[in-house]
Amino acid sequence: MFRIFLFFLIFLTLSVAFAEEKVQVKDIRYYEIHNGIRVIIETTGFVEFTRGQLKNPERLFFDLKKVQLNKEIKKEFLINKHSLSKIRIGQFDLNTVRIVFDLLKSEYEFKIIQLEDPSRLVIDIYSVKDNASSLIDINNENDKKLKLIKKKIVIDPGHGGKDPGAIGPNGLMEKDVVLDIALKIREIMKDNPKYEIILTRANDTFIPLQERTEIANKNKADLFISIHANASLNNHARGIETYILNWTDDEEAIRVAARENAISVKKMKELKGEIGLMLASLEREAKREDSVKIAGYVHNSLVNRIKFSFSSNDNGLKQALFYVLVGAQMPSCLLEVSYISNPEEERLLADEKYRMKIAQAIAEGIDNYFEKSEKVKKVKYTNNFLIRADNKKSKNSTIGSKKL
Ligand SMILES: [Zn+2]
Repeated sequence: MFRIFLFFLIFLTLSVAFAEEKVQVKDIRYYEIHNGIRVIIETTGFVEFTRGQLKNPERLFFDLKKVQLNKEIKKEFLINKHSLSKIRIGQFDLNTVRIVFDLLKSEYEFKIIQLEDPSRLVIDIYSVKDNASSLIDINNENDKKLKLIKKKIVIDPGHGGKDPGAIGPNGLMEKDVVLDIALKIREIMKDNPKYEIILTRANDTFIPLQERTEIANKNKADLFISIHANASLNNHARGIETYILNWTDDEEAIRVAARENAISVKKMKELKGEIGLMLASLEREAKREDSVKIAGYVHNSLVNRIKFSFSSNDNGLKQALFYVLVGAQMPSCLLEVSYISNPEEERLLADEKYRMKIAQAIAEGIDNYFEKSEKVKKVKYTNNFLIRADNKKSKNSTIGSKKL
């Protein structure tokens, strides 16, 4: 009798623990974005997932672990657009929900991001142009450059609205500092006929991370630069650092990215496998070599100008997984212009003159980038195939000793 009771008790405890662990898929919806389809899967919590691909017919799927599907939701969506034929979702087994993308062709790109508050998975599926049309595009690109069509630069002041970003010991908010710097950059560059400056926000509004690069993609921008102020528990931490998108094992870089992504360091580490796959899938779109260049030009300009007028540490170029850069179809980087958590740098960030110096340095870095790469591209224009061959070399680029 006792044994039966004990068994029952254990079973009850296990099933309670089990039930508590399960996350629910509440809803699924989709909408069209530039060159693709965005699918939002609303969940009741953080989800572990794996990815798989199947051929004949071409399918991409994600298995969401320890997840239960709300039986009320629609389970199939006909798309027939942007490489995508159908989206299907179902309870694959007791613990797994599978979402399947039936594809029209094997050429496609995807990205997946998990966001909190409210919990959701965002999956984008993009069409990829075939070789013939991308060659035509390269021609058009060069034609445009020769005619000196304005370069579109998207400046993204981080945070905003309900999200203050980091807050300094004396109450200065990151969202206010970076907005002012972005407005100053626009002011400095607006009369330059070479550039068109687009801001992701020009006032104190909240914009979700994944919508920020979408603004740049829709505008077919040439550059995407996200501006932030850093924070650390160590209030002596100071200086300027510039990031490009990539996976990293550097604890400090993971911490910075976790804060900007508004997820925990633990969750950042859990993302590693899937994100690695996704970054590889986006390799062609990532324009990594150009991202390293723009990050380098802006970083050098910032360090030199700030060092000249105010003393500051050069913390160097780094890489980390920032959600806000995922999906950018143009060269991109993220700037941590100073530490708002350091009382001295907080005081500087509150100073109009300091913010103006930073804005001038960023504008100068952007200008240097286009001036220098313009010259290189004019030489290469004589042979389109040269440009394509050079793009492949970008895989060998390095930052410091790290392979990108
Ligand atoms: Zn930030």
